[in-house]
Amino acid sequence: MRKTGSDPKMLLKRLREFMAEAIEPQMRLNQIVREIAQNMAAEVCSLYVMHLNGMLELYATQGLNPQAVHLSQLRLGQGLVGAIAATARPLNLVNAQDHPAFTYLPETGEEIYSSFLGVPILRAGRTLGVLVVQNRNQRSYSDDEVEALETVVMVLAEMIGSGNLPHIAHSDVKVDTERPFSLTGSALNEGIGLGHVILHEPRIVITNLFNEDCEIELLKLSAAIDSLRISIDDMLARWDVARDGEHRDILETYRMFAHDKGWVKRLEEAILNGLTAEAAVEKVQSDTRARMIQIVDPYMRERLSDLDDLANRLLSQLMGRKDDAFAIGICQNAVLIAHAMGAAELLDYPREKICGLVLEDGATTSHVVIVARAMGIPVIGQAKGIISLAKNDDPIIIDGNEGHVHLRPVADVEKAYAEKARFQAHRQKFYRDLCNRPPYTRDGVPITMLINAGLLVDLPQLAESGAEGIGLFRTELQFMIASTFPRAQEQEELYRTVYQEVGDKSVTFRTLDIGGDKVLPYFRAKGHEENPALGWRAIRLALDRPALMRTQLRALLKASGGRELRLMLPMVTEIAEIHHAQQLIDREVAHLARFSYELPTQLKLGAMIEVPSLLFQLDELMQVTDFVSVGSNDLFQFMMAVDRSNIQLANRFDPLSPTVLRALRKIIRASQRNNVPVTLCGEMAGKPLMAMALIGLGFQRLSMAPASIGPVKAMLLSLNAEKLCDVLEKELGILQTERSLRPMLLDFARNNNIAF
Ligand code: PEP
Ligand code: MG
Repeated sequence: MRKTGSDPKMLLKRLREFMAEAIEPQMRLNQIVREIAQNMAAEVCSLYVMHLNGMLELYATQGLNPQAVHLSQLRLGQGLVGAIAATARPLNLVNAQDHPAFTYLPETGEEIYSSFLGVPILRAGRTLGVLVVQNRNQRSYSDDEVEALETVVMVLAEMIGSGNLPHIAHSDVKVDTERPFSLTGSALNEGIGLGHVILHEPRIVITNLFNEDCEIELLKLSAAIDSLRISIDDMLARWDVARDGEHRDILETYRMFAHDKGWVKRLEEAILNGLTAEAAVEKVQSDTRARMIQIVDPYMRERLSDLDDLANRLLSQLMGRKDDAFAIGICQNAVLIAHAMGAAELLDYPREKICGLVLEDGATTSHVVIVARAMGIPVIGQAKGIISLAKNDDPIIIDGNEGHVHLRPVADVEKAYAEKARFQAHRQKFYRDLCNRPPYTRDGVPITMLINAGLLVDLPQLAESGAEGIGLFRTELQFMIASTFPRAQEQEELYRTVYQEVGDKSVTFRTLDIGGDKVLPYFRAKGHEENPALGWRAIRLALDRPALMRTQLRALLKASGGRELRLMLPMVTEIAEIHHAQQLIDREVAHLARFSYELPTQLKLGAMIEVPSLLFQLDELMQVTDFVSVGSNDLFQFMMAVDRSNIQLANRFDPLSPTVLRALRKIIRASQRNNVPVTLCGEMAGKPLMAMALIGLGFQRLSMAPASIGPVKAMLLSLNAEKLCDVLEKELGILQTERSLRPMLLDFARNNNIAF
């Protein structure tokens, strides 16, 4: 039984009638605010709409001075309305003028009203505006009234978000879902994508907001929640790696959320207020998303995004979305736009149709970004506001090199990028034609070109690129895109498939390198780490959690039965760690032998050189390893003391500095002295100019992203390695005051017609 006079169901019914009438948008808004005021027994009801520049403009009012419509504006964060928009939370005040954020707008004549209830108008977690009701007398609005207003704003969100208002804006800045819009986010994967918008979120297709029959909608909701619960229970039942720890907690959180009475009650209430089951889920999901925007802790955000994912699944079930039909229906050159997305969801799309991904959230370590990188899809993250501005099928260009997004681009921008894309396609063809050319430098030095991989989607690129094998298989990626620890059998299956796919080419598996920037949302180090890059990670974590390491070793040993197993340890700091790992390996080998499993024909153990301490024990290191591989990303990070993910420091120091090059030369010399092969598998290997320097130092094995094979091969085919060796030897042998040898190397490349 409702405690107040407001009747959201009746109100929604009236709004629905207004929506169906063929009237001017401004008149429709006027009717809407009048109706809301009347229904809620409020003297004032005002609608503020947010412009692209963050200004909130009064669009319609019942009760305030009508002359103020399209004149009164507030900045995001300014006044009560600005505060609601900035925090995406409602404000319910008995006396508005006592609130510190209150700002008096004389033209509105609002000074006579005391009580104030404002709610954000949310769509896809973005604030599109604010709806306010006010009363003269001092009163507190009940929870039911807040809920009623939140339900009503769903309709307004659809109106604003679907671009039904533009031409009624008075000022020069329009609520714009038509005009060109550009933004710069973070460049998470390089490449250029020209195509059309596909909004990923299933909410976009919610066409029916108003329910016909509450009972039917409640039944629909209940059935969908039941299947959601069953699927979570399934996940929990399958989960068998360890019996305690944070990962179990996370799954329990999933379950708790799905069984949460408050959550279900809020959904039901929204239905009772007149929404359809899917609109109710969207409404409640919007609240979660609004909360997500405000949380900075990456762990908590990941958790909320899991909850968001659950709501998405519920929505898909309610909408009966058939993924196949959905995927087939998308056009060529689709640029996906999402707030955030699960890695598996990206894999549901047909790869050949996707040419870009834009995320409102999203960081280098987001699972979907890792997968997109493996699939060679350009990605932009942190593209705030893009969802509410984009419509399905809008033309869009994304530049993953610079982080630019151009929505509905003007002709000039389109022309410039089309030219770039043509050039890129031309280069790609040129690189593909090099695929079968043997990788020898012009003076006959053989270079082993390998790819870095980590997921199944990477594997076809081994054949396509013409590389000789996988120089670095990042096993942690399987863990990073999962929602729980992959079971032993899943690990083994992945490794077996890798062996099948590589055929007689070689593959080097790196044991788990988690921690630092490689976060598993379901597993967290105990206690806060002040410096995660220097923390409990990679081999350190693996040796402290031998069960985890042994499970992986066993899976690798089983999968490599009858083949060579090349195992590589990440982040080694001291030789003792290799001895320790060797003991674990020996134990697993003995165990499998005891049970007559087929063992690998050969087991080669290698170490990554990523921590500078190893530079001073290279001979000792090479006595206990069969091969080494330089992780230049981390080695550079630790040598120069620069966080590899800190954008501010990204270009401050150069990997082509004499210091780094001397360190690399030291490694090459040790490898020659000890006759232990060395590969370089960091980003340096994939950048033609840097790869040129590496070959000049004596590196003959380079492992890189598959997309780099072509450009690096073009470079080496035109390089006289011996000539560069002499130049570098001389440069590094003298007192060097240059910060970087890049200018010298660029000159060398240009003067010798080297393609870079
Ligand atoms: C490196 O550090 O250079 C490396 C190859 O490993 P990752 O980038 O996975 O840390
Ligand atoms: Mg590394």
